[in-house]
Amino acid sequence: MIIAVASGKGGTGKTTLTVNLARVLMEKAKIYVLDCDVEEPNVHLFLQVQKIEDKIVNKSVPELEPEICSGCLECVKMCQFNALVEVKAKPMVFSELCHSCGGCVEVCPNKALTEKDFPIGKVSIYEDERYVFVEGRLDVGQPMSPPVIKAVKKHLPNDPKAIAIIDAPPGTSCPVIASLHGADFILLVTEPTPFGLHDLDLAVKTVKELKIPMGVVVNRVQAIPNLITKYCTQNQIPLLLHLPLDQEAARLYSQGKILVDHLPEFKEKFQTIVPKIQKILQEVQHANQN
Ligand code: SF4
Ligand code: SF4
Repeated sequence: MIIAVASGKGGTGKTTLTVNLARVLMEKAKIYVLDCDVEEPNVHLFLQVQKIEDKIVNKSVPELEPEICSGCLECVKMCQFNALVEVKAKPMVFSELCHSCGGCVEVCPNKALTEKDFPIGKVSIYEDERYVFVEGRLDVGQPMSPPVIKAVKKHLPNDPKAIAIIDAPPGTSCPVIASLHGADFILLVTEPTPFGLHDLDLAVKTVKELKIPMGVVVNRVQAIPNLITKYCTQNQIPLLLHLPLDQEAARLYSQGKILVDHLPEFKEKFQTIVPKIQKILQEVQHANQN
């Protein structure tokens, strides 16, 4: 089962949910945790396990051989991403902007363009007897994170009985879709504020497009019901958990500590999530069969 943890905006508690869920699940089996928030990965601050290896992530970009380029500029016309620009009647490559579509290489009549690797980030693999933890990290200044996210997701387990948790980037853009694609269930984390509600609504619309079952976790709750409770009821979205606004939880988080190791009331709450997800998935399967 692949559970992706997402949110419409940053700072709602995605990482808190990811690491605490992983911690309660690892008491039963080995867990895979994938940090796909590659622009600012932070799961490693909580899961301190042995690093096994780093792998460089490359994308393919065109390289020009000026001696055989006729200057026809067909490649410049082909590129939809402004990664090829005419300079003195010859194309110039801006590798950062290239989306690796290969179109320019295909249209070049003189075979003056070849593909070469261009490093954009790395994937780090950590492991101990309880976790396999895979972190993606986009190099500073690189604008395209999906190739790094896809490189992280290559480490998802093949065993259908294994549980993997993906920490997705915040928002609703391409990196989020790349992270959520292929998940069995999406946990949307939000907070009970008007901003939280606005961004939750955007995230819900995105997940509906992907047709993946979802549930909501409300973080930093002071009173129930709140505006998120009402939204979930109106939109028939399962509300799986309320996590209280708690000063001790905030203190532990700021020290890189995992809440369920220190606060039994949080552990009890996190232990309820997966049985609820399994029940929803069974209901969805049942509905699809009928
Ligand atoms: S298509 Fe090929 S030959 Fe024409 S300008 Fe581009 S690299 Fe040069
Ligand atoms: S591979 Fe695609 S995106 Fe990259 S420079 Fe060529 S046409 Fe543009």
